[in-house]
Amino acid sequence: MFERELLAAAHRADLHGTHLVLLCIGVDAFELVNETYGRASGDAALKQLAQRLARFVRTGYALARLGGTEFVLLVPGALSHGHALAEELMRVLREPMQIGAQRVQPSCSIGLAAYPNHGASTLLMGYADLAMRAARDSGGGCYVEFDRQMGEDQRAQAELARDLRGAVERQELLLYYQPKVDALTLQVTAAEALVRWQHPRRGLISPDKFIVLAERHGLIGLVGDWVIREATRQAAEWRKRGLRMRVAINVSGVQLRQDGFAERLAEQLKSQGLQPGRFTCEITETVAMEDTQATQRALAHMANMGVHVSIDDFGTGHSSLALLRRLRAEELKIDRAFVTDLGHSADALAVAKAIVQMAHSLDMKVVAEGVETEQQRDCLLDLGCDELQGFLFAKPMPAKSLELWATSDQDSPLHAFRPSLFSDTNVAGI
Ligand code: C2E
Ligand code: CA
Ligand code: CA
Repeated sequence: MFERELLAAAHRADLHGTHLVLLCIGVDAFELVNETYGRASGDAALKQLAQRLARFVRTGYALARLGGTEFVLLVPGALSHGHALAEELMRVLREPMQIGAQRVQPSCSIGLAAYPNHGASTLLMGYADLAMRAARDSGGGCYVEFDRQMGEDQRAQAELARDLRGAVERQELLLYYQPKVDALTLQVTAAEALVRWQHPRRGLISPDKFIVLAERHGLIGLVGDWVIREATRQAAEWRKRGLRMRVAINVSGVQLRQDGFAERLAEQLKSQGLQPGRFTCEITETVAMEDTQATQRALAHMANMGVHVSIDDFGTGHSSLALLRRLRAEELKIDRAFVTDLGHSADALAVAKAIVQMAHSLDMKVVAEGVETEQQRDCLLDLGCDELQGFLFAKPMPAKSLELWATSDQDSPLHAFRPSLFSDTNVAGI
């Protein structure tokens, strides 16, 4: 019915030479409301928001709920009117509301698209939706007008996803490795595999640009399985040649939650003859703390297999100490943001210090990532970090370069420790 209204309104606008504005209104982080207060409260909150929206409806307007947390409001008038209305809506929608015993402050993102300014009436819904997503991506709680670039970005992303589908088969993915070193001896303890995509036209693409894309387009299993195969192959090869260090991979949340992830990992480790305890899976704190069955089951399975688990980007999420203990992870990586701020922020220093103490009391090792300066290194040493990683020691590099770097006589900070350059860490019985 809404679409019919939209077409009729566009027709009237054509006849009278007037304009239309479509506002797409999305509730931000609504899953949080559901999770925190329960579904019934979530429904109650949506109803209240709908009532607030309904107060704005005048003759010639149309209001509909498109899906779970999305509403659309059709307004006759010029774009400037749409902007004024969006402004007013923002103010009204964010007023606190009572849900049961709780006072909650909702947040919404609004996208605007106008007819005929932005294009045909049939495209308007899609445009307003894109604009709403842009508002949400910029942090939410604001409104954004559609612009052409958003459509372009969307197309470019879809194209990239299509290319990615064939990238594994065409052997365009590759792994770079970045060493972790022992804070005291500077021995290399591990190499973290970081995936890259050698795109035939776009050049080397960083994981930040395509991992999320892979997750959105259902390709993360494909990419993730390749990373496991390649990293275990490389780890086995290094072992054979006497380089005794662990290899780490990054595992995304979507990948971890997929059926049979832990089984596939176990199988791959076995076929390469690698001890699970010598192979590390880095999982971000946010994912590790997800209290969903699928995530916790996969993590428990990995712990039972004896896979070495590292909690990545620690300090940015909301950890439950109880859950952290239950995880049985061996390693914790202090997020780069804290390391970067060590020199000039007392807060960062305090947080880093607390993380080290907490991790040690839970019998976990602490790795600091993103170490770029000697001051940062010294500070992290003082705090009692066990291992360090960052450009100060080495950037991520191809496997071959890592071998050369670690065994050459270049002016590397590791030079003095050449005889025992590689070391295994805390693997029982070795
Ligand atoms: P991450 O796991 O936190 O990896 C560290 C990132 O910081 C890497 O970026 C690395 O190149 C960069 N880095 C390391 N040392 C320094 C330093 O001293 N200074 C600065 N400024 N940066 C440093 P990269 O390789 O672009 O990877 C970005 C992210 O992509 C990774 O963050 C990880 O979350 C994800 N990623 C990489 N490979 C994979 C993968 O195979 N699977 C999945 N699921 N995610 C991956
Ligand atoms: Ca990592
Ligand atoms: Ca990290």
